[in-house]
Amino acid sequence: MEQKTLRLKRGKEESLDRFHPWVFSGALAEPLPAGLEEGETVSVVTHDGRHVGVGHFQIGSIAVRILDFADVKIDGEFFRNRLMQALRLRQALGLARPDNDAYRLVHGEGDFLPGLVVDIYGPTAVLQAHSPGMHFARRIIADEIAALPGLGVRNVYYKSETTLPYKAHLDARNDYLVGAFETSVATENSLRFNIDWLKGQKTGFFLDQRDNRSLLQHYSRGRRVLNMFCYTGGFSVYALRGDATLVHSVDSSEKAITLTDANVKLNYPGTDRHKSFAEDAFKFLDNMERDAYDLVVLDPPAFAKHRSALRNALRGYQRLNAKAMEKIAPGGILFTFSCSQAVSREQFRLAVFSAAAQSRRRIRILHQLTQPADHPVNIYHPEGEYLKGLVLYVE
Ligand code: SAH
Repeated sequence: MEQKTLRLKRGKEESLDRFHPWVFSGALAEPLPAGLEEGETVSVVTHDGRHVGVGHFQIGSIAVRILDFADVKIDGEFFRNRLMQALRLRQALGLARPDNDAYRLVHGEGDFLPGLVVDIYGPTAVLQAHSPGMHFARRIIADEIAALPGLGVRNVYYKSETTLPYKAHLDARNDYLVGAFETSVATENSLRFNIDWLKGQKTGFFLDQRDNRSLLQHYSRGRRVLNMFCYTGGFSVYALRGDATLVHSVDSSEKAITLTDANVKLNYPGTDRHKSFAEDAFKFLDNMERDAYDLVVLDPPAFAKHRSALRNALRGYQRLNAKAMEKIAPGGILFTFSCSQAVSREQFRLAVFSAAAQSRRRIRILHQLTQPADHPVNIYHPEGEYLKGLVLYVE
C-alpha cells in the first residue's frame, strides 16, 4: 500500500520541529487523504510540503504518533534498531542480570516507540499496544523481540484487549504471538514474584516502583509497616527483607490479596510477620488505631485518568494522605505516590501539603521520588513523566 501523506495547517509544525512526537487532529489540514485508515503509517509534511516525520495515524485527539522525524521506512529493520537501542540502555542500567530479570524494555515515547510498552519477565516479554498502529505491527515487533540477540526472550504474550481505543473495533485478542507459557515467576533484586500477565493489571506487575521499593526496604528495619493499595505485594516483600517487625498489606481486591499472599509465601514461607486485609483503604485508615504503624505506603490507583477528574482527584489525594498523617506513629515515615499523568508534580505536592496542614503534625520531605530509569522520559515529551512520590518524616 502506498504510504499516504498528511499535510499540516500553516505554522502547525512548530512543536514537531522541537521533536514533540504528537500531531493533534486540529493541526491537520483538511481533507485527509481518501481511504486513510486507522493505524496506517503516514508521512507528515508542512503546509508547503517539507517533510517533518513519519508515524502512526489514529482517529482521536492525537492524530499521529511520530516514529521518526527522518523520512525512513517503518519495517522490521526499523523496529529491530529501536529495540536494540532500548536493550542497550537496559544493559547499561544493569537491569538484565541473573538476580533481576524483570524490567521494562520499551516505555513508549521514552524509547521513541509511541504507543508501545514491552515488559520483560524472565523468558517472557509482555507486549502492550496503546495505538492501532502498534496493534497492526504487533507480529513484526514480537518476532524482532524473540530474535533480539542478548535478550533471551523465548515467549511473547500480547496483552492489549483493554489498552486500545475501543472505538477502533480492533477486537484485539490477548494471546501468545511467539512461544507459549513457560514460567510466571520473575526475579527483581533477588526477590521472586509471581506475575499474572493473563489477568493482572498493566502487564501483571508494577515495575515502575522497583527503586522505591528498594528505598522502602532501607527504612523498614524495626518498623511496623502498612502497605496500602498493595496489589501484588511488592512493597510488602521488600519490607520483610528489610527486617520490618510486622507488615500489613491492604487492597480492596480479593484477587490482589491472593497475589500478595502468594508472593510473600514465595520469598518468606511460613513468616508470621505478614498479614493481609481485603478492605477499602479509606475504611481501613478510619478504623485503624493511632500509632499502629511507623512506616506507611500509599500507592493508590490513578485518581485522575483524565483532566476532567483533576479536582476530585486532588481532593482524594488530600483526604487519603491526611488520614495517614493523622495516625502514623511519631517518627514515622510515609511513602506517598500518585501515578496520575493528569496530576502534575506541583499539584500533587500541594495536595500532600494541604493534608499535612490538616493533620497539624510536623512534617518534612526526605525524598522526592519518580519512575525508574527503565521508564525513561523523552526530554521533548515531558508528558511521559507520570510517577510522583514523596517520602515524609512525620513527628
Ligand atoms: N502498590 C502496588 C500497585 C498499586 S495499584 C505495587 O507496587 O505493585 C492500585 C491498587 O489499589 C490495586 O490493586 C487496586 O485493587 C487497589 N485499590 C483501588 N481502590 C482501592 C480502595 N478504595 N481501597 C483499597 N485498595 C484499592
